[in-house]
Amino acid sequence: MKGKFPLEQFAKMRTPFYYYDTELLRTTLRAINEETRKHEDFCVHYAVKANANPKVLRYIREAGLGADCVSGGEIEAAIRAGFPHDKIVFAGVGKSDWEIELGLDHDIFCFNVESVPELEVINELAGARGKTAKVAFRINPDVGAHTHANITTGLAENKFGIAMRDMQSVIELAAQLKNVKFVGLHFHIGSQILDMGDFQALCNRINELQNQLESHHICIENINVGGGLGIDYQHPNRIPIPDFKAYFDTYAKHLKRRPGQVIHFELGRAVVAQCGSLISRTLYIKEGTHKKFAILDAGMTDLIRPALYQAFHKIENLSSEEPMQTYDVVGPICESSDVFAKQTDLNAAHRGDIMAIRSAGAYGEIMASSYNCRQLPKGFVSEDLM
Ligand SMILES: *Cc1c(COP(=O)(O)O)cnc(C)c1O
Repeated sequence: MKGKFPLEQFAKMRTPFYYYDTELLRTTLRAINEETRKHEDFCVHYAVKANANPKVLRYIREAGLGADCVSGGEIEAAIRAGFPHDKIVFAGVGKSDWEIELGLDHDIFCFNVESVPELEVINELAGARGKTAKVAFRINPDVGAHTHANITTGLAENKFGIAMRDMQSVIELAAQLKNVKFVGLHFHIGSQILDMGDFQALCNRINELQNQLESHHICIENINVGGGLGIDYQHPNRIPIPDFKAYFDTYAKHLKRRPGQVIHFELGRAVVAQCGSLISRTLYIKEGTHKKFAILDAGMTDLIRPALYQAFHKIENLSSEEPMQTYDVVGPICESSDVFAKQTDLNAAHRGDIMAIRSAGAYGEIMASSYNCRQLPKGFVSEDLM
């Protein structure tokens, strides 16, 4: 089974480009809202780093999600897309002064702080502006996730967050600083997580930490559990929408919440991955010694995930219904790692055939580079092609 695409329009367009199916995006957002509505004070922030295309952001803002930003540029993108300032959170292990000042000037909801020196700088910059910065501490929960080593973030050896043993002293330090206000804890254990047991392990850890803090009369208004829910890269057509019910139910069931506590989620990939495809033309079919290569006009500069994480993306030849043949699908970039898929089956391909590289809405367009002096790929939503 292949996805449905406006192939006639594609045929007239210059490739490569990203195409976002906004009907699927809207259905996905509706599914998120339907699930979160079932639970009191569940609040979802979209992780802007997954895709900051302004048209995509607009749909997400219209659905009422907040924005989770990891840079000043993302705060600007979120503001430009109309996200309310009090629904913006700002995380990141290395925030520059100008980025902190930008957050302060926009009165964002909260800074997710990852170290004591950062806390001190935020306190100082907020003081200079006569403001109080709301801060949450990102705690490294030392919880592993069953995902690719490069995208696990919650282990003690990762660079992210404050160690659990320092948590209490950092909260006490914040209480002494005049221009910051402690409002909660933040966690994020990794990305592309499909095993709900990993999120359950995070819940158990948060419960422990919360008991510990409570015994010292420290209460926590907000718990931000980060993002990380994965998608089905193998079956974008059969399973276009992640299992949000299982995800939110896991937190509802295992997190021991205190009255009035707000739970924040930061979903990126699960919101946007399936609605996006990288659309490309086949330049050449090349017969190698042992195999056939389909050489596309899209490369790792347009979608780096396969080269960076050995990520799998399903590829469909939209122009052919001929019997399947086996190809290595590669790009034109002068790097041996510029390979989208090895030994993959496609309907027999010819020069000019349009290929869709699926599930590319997250960490695709936003990670594009101009290496080899290539143009950055454009992004189109369904409405653009009507
Ligand atoms: C990347 C990131 C997210 C989003 O991760 P997804 O796997 O795309 O859901 C959420 N929170 C933080 C702090 C992140 O760095």
